[in-house]
Amino acid sequence: MQCIICKKDKPHDKFTEEHIFPDSIGGNIILDCVCKECNDFLGHSVDSNLVNHVFVQFNRLALKIAGKSGKIPNPLAEGYINDSQEKIQYIFNNSGIPKELRIFPKIQIFSGDNGILEIQIDADVKDRDKLTSIINKKLKRLGLDDLSKEEKQKIENAQPLPGERPLIRKTIAIDIFRYKRAIIKIAYELAYYWLGATYLNDEIGELLRLSIMDNSLEGLWLKKYPINAHIDLIGEKPIFPYWTDEKDHHIGLIQRFDSNLICCIKIFNIFQGIIIISKNAHLYPTFINKFIAINAQTQESRESDLETELLKIIESIITYSGI
Ligand SMILES: [Zn+2]
Repeated sequence: MQCIICKKDKPHDKFTEEHIFPDSIGGNIILDCVCKECNDFLGHSVDSNLVNHVFVQFNRLALKIAGKSGKIPNPLAEGYINDSQEKIQYIFNNSGIPKELRIFPKIQIFSGDNGILEIQIDADVKDRDKLTSIINKKLKRLGLDDLSKEEKQKIENAQPLPGERPLIRKTIAIDIFRYKRAIIKIAYELAYYWLGATYLNDEIGELLRLSIMDNSLEGLWLKKYPINAHIDLIGEKPIFPYWTDEKDHHIGLIQRFDSNLICCIKIFNIFQGIIIISKNAHLYPTFINKFIAINAQTQESRESDLETELLKIIESIITYSGI
């Protein structure tokens, strides 16, 4: 059996389920022709850039979509109290419901000749009165002396509680590039899903495959592989004007356009991609334009040919407008 990612022939038991749209964002269409090694690689190096993208994490939190660990991501979980080094953690339970707020004070202690020792204390805000004994325990473990009387007093007299509405400082890194490879992966696998094994001989398919496997690309990626793709934030110019109401859905479609096959992908209402997946549409004479919508929350999917889907939309517009 041939793996569609590394193209190696391997025995059946070396294959595992590959989710075309990652399962951490509710994807439920599965391929069985990706070997375990490639599956792991795709999970760590490709899909992770999409499912852990900060914009996607906000959506997963809002829709309560857990990852493989069973945890719902929370991009706002940790921050620092304004102008201080005191860490604050907003803890959500596994169902994504806010549970408690913890504050981790950072305390400076002057330790002999060595200057300043900074330690982060794992203490609940309620345990402030126990701080000095917690610090002493920590110091003992480090082989250092107990707090001096002055230090003890300084900590006890501090104003540890932030105000009613503390300002939280949080640094967020936004990936503007890596997630695109994950969308190329979805396009490549969707193409195989609908076009079948013939697609493994497609010139453009081969370029997509190589770019998915190439981990060394960084910013050079689209230059190294001449792929015709536009992948970006949806912003004000959705290429899916008909489906933006379905903001908790992922959408994929493949459509014939002259001698090309074009794949369009929407991830929530965040990212969109339009990718030429073949310049030899004649190789697939029986192919009928395809459509799939996946509800990220319920994992229910709606798959049909594109014309049927568009007819349904036109019907609903007509009904809605009362023509
Ligand atoms: Zn493989």
